[in-house]
Amino acid sequence: MSAKILDGKAIAAELRESIRQEVDKQVAAGKPRPGLAVIMVGEDPASQVYVRNKKIACEKAGFKDVSQVLPAQTSQEDVLALIDELNADDTVHGIIVQLPVPEHINAEAIIERIHPCKDVDGFHPYNVGRLATRMMQLAPCTPHGVMTMLAKTGIPLRGLNAVVVGASNIVGVPMMLELLNERATVTICHSATKDLPKMVSEADLVVVGVGIPNMVKGDWIKDGAIVIDVGINRMEDGTLCGDVEFDVAKEKASWITPVPGGVGPMTIATLLENTMKVAYELECKL
Ligand code: NDP
Repeated sequence: MSAKILDGKAIAAELRESIRQEVDKQVAAGKPRPGLAVIMVGEDPASQVYVRNKKIACEKAGFKDVSQVLPAQTSQEDVLALIDELNADDTVHGIIVQLPVPEHINAEAIIERIHPCKDVDGFHPYNVGRLATRMMQLAPCTPHGVMTMLAKTGIPLRGLNAVVVGASNIVGVPMMLELLNERATVTICHSATKDLPKMVSEADLVVVGVGIPNMVKGDWIKDGAIVIDVGINRMEDGTLCGDVEFDVAKEKASWITPVPGGVGPMTIATLLENTMKVAYELECKL
């Protein structure tokens, strides 16, 4: 069996187009354009690419882009002061700080300073807590984008054995919560997991976000499983590679995401979706 490709590039393009149309509609009705502030501290090359892509996506969707690039030596106090300013600005609906931040800045302090109702990355403990208690408000973009992709397969998640490999705050843990909320039976694996091949081989759905090229071998995959590869690894020759051994896994899976063109494009589209939700839908009770 050769798997169907879950085309994140196409699904993300569709989502961005529907967002653009909704923004046009709301603006025609007198509402403001969603405003997104992406704060980048320093010049990490990978972050520069992400921030540029976010800026382009923002403009194409008809958003107001209020991105700020700060010098690497900017103090934590100055970053916090900028967040306070953006929190108080009614034209700004979403605020994110591009990670990683330079070492002298405490990422947790930054995340906690963003107002939970403008936390469009969904990393604030308030929003993580809401996701964990089935009162989702703003969910982390990459796992939420995966849920949008899974919905496209038409396969009900209820009762599936789902294995999430990787337990980070931005990928694995919120992914586990999203799947649990859909009544999948979820196992989450990390670097201390015993017998990962066995865990993966029992899964109807595998989501991998580890950061090690081809780490999940194709022959671990159960026949007919859905395979979602969140990993993005840049190889020495400049190409991108996922965490799953794609060529072998695709012969066993029913659905599989490619890298590139799988989960990657969904993250920015979901960021726009979250920002639009703040602008037009969310009733902030804080
Ligand atoms: P982290 O380094 O924060 O987390 C990696 C996770 O993998 C940890 O939970 C770690 O376990 C686990 N892990 C490490 N080695 C093993 C192992 N041998 N077996 C099982 N688990 C292991 O990475 P991120 O979550 O930030 O990113 C993961 C990948 O996803 C990267 O390739 C990144 O580029 C990609 N990514 C892609 C995005 C997208 O838009 N598509 C967005 C975000 C990330 P432990 O907890 O025990 O340390």
